Amino acid sequence: QPIIEIKNLSKVFPGEGVTTSALEQVNLSINQGDYLSIQGPSGGGKSTLLSIIGLLDKPSSGDYTISGVEVSQLSQAQIAKVRNKEIGFIFQDFNLIGDMTVWQNVELPLIYRGVKKAERHPLVQQVLEKVNMLEHARHLPTQLSGGQQQRVAVARAIVGSPSLLLADEPTGNLDSKNGDSVMQLLAELNRDGVTICMVTHDSRYANFAKRVVQLVDGQLAESSDQSHLASVT
Ligand code: ADP
Ligand code: ADP
Repeated sequence: QPIIEIKNLSKVFPGEGVTTSALEQVNLSINQGDYLSIQGPSGGGKSTLLSIIGLLDKPSSGDYTISGVEVSQLSQAQIAKVRNKEIGFIFQDFNLIGDMTVWQNVELPLIYRGVKKAERHPLVQQVLEKVNMLEHARHLPTQLSGGQQQRVAVARAIVGSPSLLLADEPTGNLDSKNGDSVMQLLAELNRDGVTICMVTHDSRYANFAKRVVQLVDGQLAESSDQSHLASVT
């Protein structure tokens, strides 16, 4: 059963005089264990699609089901709940909270979800170990390199075991060395079973994904399915 199923999904942004058609009749399934990379030129609709998949925005028409639930049937409060449970996000600019330590940043989504303190502690510890940042647990984001900050952001995104990790240009603010280390980490997480959907216009990193789709002028085309290959790292 797919985690994400999108059928004939369109998104228009109404404007004064002009309406922008950002997505046109998009069809896409993301299965458990997938590592999907969405590529394409600026303005092609990548961010719009990721926002819809991540339940931050709504489609204008079409079907979207996540873990078997049709999103259009849900109230705003239910959508927020599904988002918290099912989705982890990482962004180009890390979005860590500046006056909280690494540990506190990673712990925060568990607090929001009402996980008790005694249960939070081992989860935070485990995930910080996984991203190799436990020794920096008491540091503030400003004391870390960009690559380290992104690894903390990855830890925060996966600490609640979401069904899907969404990554929006995760290497966009990193030099190639730090970018490579973050991409290695994502590949390793995928091998551990984390399902990933990434947006990037950096074609260097296409080979890290199992599947690559191209989004051009709001239209999606599968350009390669490499899921039969072993992960490249
Ligand atoms: P990409 O991420 O591939 O660069 P976007 O999803 O950001 O593409 O944009 C797709 C199209 O939708 C573009 O024409 C963009 O101008 C338009 N668009 C995106 N967000 C909005 C918005 N909030 N209001 C109006 N138009 C938007
Ligand atoms: P206290 O009982 O004083 O709250 P905690 O174990 O919660 O003790 O630690 C206090 C703060 O130290 C936490 O809010 C967290 O930021 C940080 N912290 C907790 N455990 C660790 C750890 N194993 N490594 C690094 N920092 C930690």
